[in-house]
This record gives sequence, structure tokens and C-alpha cells, in this order.
Amino acid sequence: MQKRIYADNAATTGTRREVIDKMLPYFDRIYGNPSSLYTEGQRAREVIEECRARIAAAVNAEPREIIFTSGGSEADNQAILSAAEIGRTKGKKHIVSSAIEHHAVLHTLEKLQKEGFEVTLLKCAGSGIVDPDELRAAIREDTCLVTVMYANNEIGTVQPVSELGAICREKGVIFHTDAVQAVGHLRIDVKAENIDMLSASAHKFHGPKGVGFLYARRGVRLTNLIEGGAQERGKRAGTENVPGIVGMTEALEIALAGIDKNTGRIKSLRDRLIAGLSEIPHSALNGDRDKRLPGNVSFCFEGIEGESLLLLLDDKGICASSGSACTSGSLDPSHVLLAIGREHGVAHGSLRLSIDEDFTEEDAEYVISAVKDVVAYLRSFSPVWRDLVAGKTPFVL
Ligand SMILES: *Cc1c(COP(=O)(O)O)cnc(C)c1O
Repeated sequence: MQKRIYADNAATTGTRREVIDKMLPYFDRIYGNPSSLYTEGQRAREVIEECRARIAAAVNAEPREIIFTSGGSEADNQAILSAAEIGRTKGKKHIVSSAIEHHAVLHTLEKLQKEGFEVTLLKCAGSGIVDPDELRAAIREDTCLVTVMYANNEIGTVQPVSELGAICREKGVIFHTDAVQAVGHLRIDVKAENIDMLSASAHKFHGPKGVGFLYARRGVRLTNLIEGGAQERGKRAGTENVPGIVGMTEALEIALAGIDKNTGRIKSLRDRLIAGLSEIPHSALNGDRDKRLPGNVSFCFEGIEGESLLLLLDDKGICASSGSACTSGSLDPSHVLLAIGREHGVAHGSLRLSIDEDFTEEDAEYVISAVKDVVAYLRSFSPVWRDLVAGKTPFVL
């Protein structure tokens, strides 16, 4: 079989073998219900509390400030709905967010709008970075929440989180950040960065799918989305996903232990990809050149369809993405690319490569030449490209 190159780590990552090995005993040996009083249940309970302390330490939180969820989407929903509930009781029904958030955030905000909340979305035009002055100007007397993602899943931009958090602290507004793309990839300190709530998901840092966590600073009252038993201090009912929690904890510690060693190498391969793909005529990098995730490469190519590009790259053994996994399959171009100012046609011709420490220099050279070939091939029979070359329509890139 042809070698496969996985360059879609922003969509999900493979679970590390060491992580799986640590999870296995919790399926068939220490499988007691953590709420049960006999030894097997209590052993599972101890493991969960040990994991909570380790996860808390990894982001400089206190163990009681961490609750386990089914992933990033649930953590985002719970964070936002909790802050909205606090706001509602005080008559504050205004929320500030950004136009480039994940749908787990945007759709939750839309739901709140139907309930009478007002939402201001900060633009992030051009670079894909929120302007702290714009945030300061957007906060009002009745603002109950600011939610801005730590790092974007499509264009990789990393926000000035600690500055945004400081503004919220000063104004007395709760600050939540969807850090699903950042946790395990960047060092995060919730205290130093003035973060009140943070969402994370294990499958984005080589842990298992279906488990994540929400950090909520002591004093920020959570509303539970799932009613039932008293698990997670009554804030998240349901028997705990013990193997998942163990796997997430292991994966996060492994990621952080290797972060200094891996980041430099991943960045240099990212930069090689950016340099190589920039040679393609009428192409443009999306997002800020430097304030981006170590492994994110996002491009637009004029005169092609992203979907066709992906299928042909798949034939060449390359797993990549166009827009986000959630938007692909729909005909609308990515809201993130539109928000940073890409025109509709151009936004359709996008490519995201998200690499990790398993990506090699040979992979980079192979991917660059494959993308160059495929883009040239698609343009060779694209009517849009023909009109551009003939000068019937102007190039925008
Ligand atoms: C993947 C992702 C999510 C959703 O996380 P799940 O664990 O898949 O629910 C939310 N926000 C961002 C930025 C993501 O990349």
C-alpha cells in the first residue's frame, strides 16, 4: 500500500500507544463504578481524582476547578450557557465573541440570541487576530461574557489571550476561551493569562475521542447541561468515562513533556511548507504569518475547488482538509475565511495542513510537490482559471 501522510491533526489525532496501554486496565480490571462504595469503585474514584489534580497542574488550575466532559463541544456549551445564566440573574444579556469561533461556540450564541441575548462578534479582518482595543470598546455595562478562542482551528491564529483576559478582569466580565486547538500544543497558565473558563478536548492532543475538560475558576458558578446523578459535584451527571479521563491525562502530560523538543521542529516544517506552497502563483497564506499554531498551514489558491484538491491529494496518500471538518460537505465556504476577508470564490479554494511531531522533512517535500501538481492540474481545466488568465475577471490573490 502507498504510504499515507496524515496532515489533518486539527481535525483529530491518533491516540498514542502509551496512552491506550494506560487506559486498558480501566476497561476490564478496574471497571467499578466510581460512585460505588466497594474497593473496585473506590479505586476508580481515586484514579479520577488523581487525574483531576494532574490536569489542573498542567494548566495551573486547582483540582476543584476542573470538570470532565464528553469533549470540547460540551465544554464550550457549558461554559457559555453558565455565564449566560449568571448574566441573566443580573439582567446582563450581552456577549462579546469573535467571528472566527468554532461552531460549538457560534451555534450556542445563536441559541442565546433567540432567548433575547445580544451578541457582538469582533471582526478579526485580515490577520485573523482580535484587536484588544476593539474588545475594550465592545464591552458594555450589560456584558456578561467574553468568549474568544485561544487558537483557531482553520487558520491557526493564536489570540493575545492574556491581554484579552486582563481587559475582562479589569471590566469585571467573565472570560472564556475555547482552547481546544491550543491545549497540549502551547503552554497554558490559566492564572497568569487571566482566564476564567477554558475548554479542552483530548482527541486534539493524541488522547481518546469523547472526553475533554472544562476549567472554571472558583467562584464562577456552573449550570449543568445534563441532569441526573451527583457526579462532578453535581455539575455534570453521568457515570464518569474513567478510561477516557485516564487517557486524556496521560496524553496531556506526554504532550507537555515533549513540547519544547517538538515545537521547534514542527514550526520549521510548517515554515518549509509555507515557503513551498507560496511558490504557487496566485496563492495566499491565511492568518498571521507568526502568531499561528506551530503545526498549522492554511492557504487559498485562486481558480480551484478545495474539495477536488482534497480528493486528488487523498489519491496521492495525503490527508488534508479544506475549511473545517464541520463545514465541509456543505456548499457554504468557511465562515472563518470569509471573516478574514477572503472572497467567496477564493475561500472555496482553501487547503489546511495541520502537522504534528510524526511529520518528516521528506513528507514536507512530497506534500509541496503534490499540492503544486494538483493545483496546476485542476487549473488546467478550470473555467474560472481560464477567465482569470484571459483577463475577463481580475485576480484577487
Ligand atoms: C475540535 C474542536 C472543538 C470540538 O471539540 P470536540 O471534542 O470534537 O467536541 C471545539 N473547538 C475547537 C476550536 C475545535 O478545534
